[in-house]
Amino acid sequence: MSEPVIPRPKSEFLQVECPDCNKVQRVFNHASTEVKCLVCNCLLAKPAGGKCKILGKIVEPEKKE
Ligand SMILES: [Zn+2]
Repeated sequence: MSEPVIPRPKSEFLQVECPDCNKVQRVFNHASTEVKCLVCNCLLAKPAGGKCKILGKIVEPEKKE
């Protein structure tokens, strides 16, 4: 019962929920600039040493269908 290991790309999009207005938007987890909520301008993610620190609530990784 072993599933093949699918190599995960280092970078991906996440669905991040804004803590203020609950709007969910895509955030690139390796964004090199600050990512703000499109609705209320709340800071959702900021760059931190190559990777992005997500300040909002991560709902789920974006799924590929
Ligand atoms: Zn917001």
